[in-house]
Order: sequence, then structure tokens, then C-alpha cells
Amino acid sequence: MSGIQAVSDCSLDDLWQTLSCAGLNGVQVLRLDRHNALAPGNKAFKLAPIIAAAKAAGHRRLLSFGGPWSNHLHALAATGAVEGLDTVGFVRGLESASPTPALRDASGWGMQLVGLDRTCYRRRAEPSFQRQLLSRYGPGLLIPEGGDCPEGAGGCRQIGEAIARATPQGATIVIPVGTGTTLAGVLAPLGHCHRVIGVSALKGALDTPQRIHRNLAALAIEPRVHWDLLQDFHCGGFARVNAELRQLLLDRELAGALPLEPVYTGKAVLALQTLLRNGVIAGDRPVVLVHTGGLQGRRGYPWLEPGPGYQ
Ligand SMILES: *Cc1c(COP(=O)(O)O)cnc(C)c1O
Repeated sequence: MSGIQAVSDCSLDDLWQTLSCAGLNGVQVLRLDRHNALAPGNKAFKLAPIIAAAKAAGHRRLLSFGGPWSNHLHALAATGAVEGLDTVGFVRGLESASPTPALRDASGWGMQLVGLDRTCYRRRAEPSFQRQLLSRYGPGLLIPEGGDCPEGAGGCRQIGEAIARATPQGATIVIPVGTGTTLAGVLAPLGHCHRVIGVSALKGALDTPQRIHRNLAALAIEPRVHWDLLQDFHCGGFARVNAELRQLLLDRELAGALPLEPVYTGKAVLALQTLLRNGVIAGDRPVVLVHTGGLQGRRGYPWLEPGPGYQ
């Protein structure tokens, strides 16, 4: 992925795919990985209102945090380039000797990369530390890691609205979760006939439900939909892979139908297969899987082919 491509926004209603393999017969996938060529996946939805607010406030520069494979920084760099805004990425433990392909893309799109050692990185939410960063690398808008803020969650309502349009009679919806910002937005437009199951990509992130409640409260959303968060499909921890997940990702039939990555959607598919097999999700009502993108991150796993569109 080099150079700036035109942003090809297509309607979410055109992104549905029905699966017929790997124990997932009839599952309807909302392919956010196919939305917006330059910044595919859920991150563009979180960033859109944040960037609109930044522009309205007269900011010319956007700064944020992420790891060396961050989909968030990748999307921020791409979007900033298209919008003509400067971007700065504070990267956890960046060793400038070998930037990842994700960071190479980001710097190719003009993002200034600043390495923070792990001790500094842990301070990313502290106001005093943020003031220091802004005085050195600003002025601009400092966006929380992962776009985790009420504006970011609000941008994900659109995803829930598309699901509600496609499944007016209700559905069980499975969605990968990191911070839970996306999940919070998705819940907003759904009603009693829907059920949402979030699958956490993190191990032991016990505060995730709290974060979701905080974003919902800030947006004054009282979800009518029943939702749960599964914490048992992390496969060893964030970005870790166990034998079961590896096997799923190497399944040729599934890979031919649906490109996946190990960090988020692969784990959600593993959970979905398990829940269908155990009858926890009944196959007699619609089942929706939200593919949240992140395919650029496949490049971090040498045993996987790079994702479509990436070298
Ligand atoms: C960031 C990300 C998520 C998690 O989104 P949250 O809003 O943090 O829960 C899920 N899937 C992919 C591919 C992501 O990049």
C-alpha cells in the first residue's frame, strides 16, 4: 500500500456476505474490511466524528497513541493524509531500527512517529503527560488510544443502523472488542429483538464493560438490546495465537470465503463457531458477524499470506 488512493466510500448496505462453510452456514457478515479503501474497518467510523470536531475547532494536527501494529494509527495516518491534516503517532516501545510495515505505511502517509518507552506509554491518559506531549509536538487534538471516547463510539452508530436495516426481525450479532468503543456505538440503534455478543481480544481486561458503560452514559444511550462480553476467546492474550486459532486461520475453505486476521475478527469467528456448535447461539434466527477489518496486521504473522491489498 503506497501512495494515497482515493477514498472509495460505499454504502454499508452493499457490504453483506452470507457464509456457507466452516460451521458458519447462513451467517451474514458485515464486511467493514471492504469499506473505505484507504482506512478499512471500524477505525474510520470512530475517527470520522473526531476529525470533524477537530476541523471545526480549527485544529491542523491530530496526535494519538498505539502499538507498532496499531490499526488505529494506520487509519489515522491514512485519513489525515486525505483530509490534509498533520498527524503524529506516539508509538509504544518503538525501536526505530525496524519499523513494522504498519508504521512504514503510516510514515509514508506523512505521520510523524515518536517512540515512547513503555514507562512513558503507560502515562498516555495522564493530563500532565498529555500537556507535555502537546507542548512539544502540538498544537493539535490529542485523540485517546484506539479512538476510545464518546465521539468515537457515536461514529459507530452507523454500523448498528446498518445491522438494524438488514435484520428488522432481529438477529444475534457477534463483534470483536478491544476497548469496546465500537460495541457501544453499535448497541445504540438496536432493539429488544437483537442480541449482541462482544468477543474480547484482550486477556483480563476486566474494565471493558465499565468503559462501554462510560461511553454509553456520555452519549446518553440506554441500550434496549441485550448484550454480553465474552472474555474467554483471547487465545493467550492480545495479538497472541493458540493452536486452535492458528488452525482456523489456515483453514483453506474459510480463508477463501473470508480474509481474517488473528488479533480481532479471527477470535470472534472462533467464538462464533464454538457458540453455534454448542447451541448457545441458535441457528434458527439470523446471525450476524461484524468483520472489523485490521487485515493490514496479517503482515505481522509470517505464517499467513499478507492480506488482500497489502505487501
Ligand atoms: C480496533 C479494532 C477493534 C476493536 O475496536 P474497539 O472499538 O476498540 O473495541 C476490532 N477489530 C479491529 C480490526 C480493530 O482494529
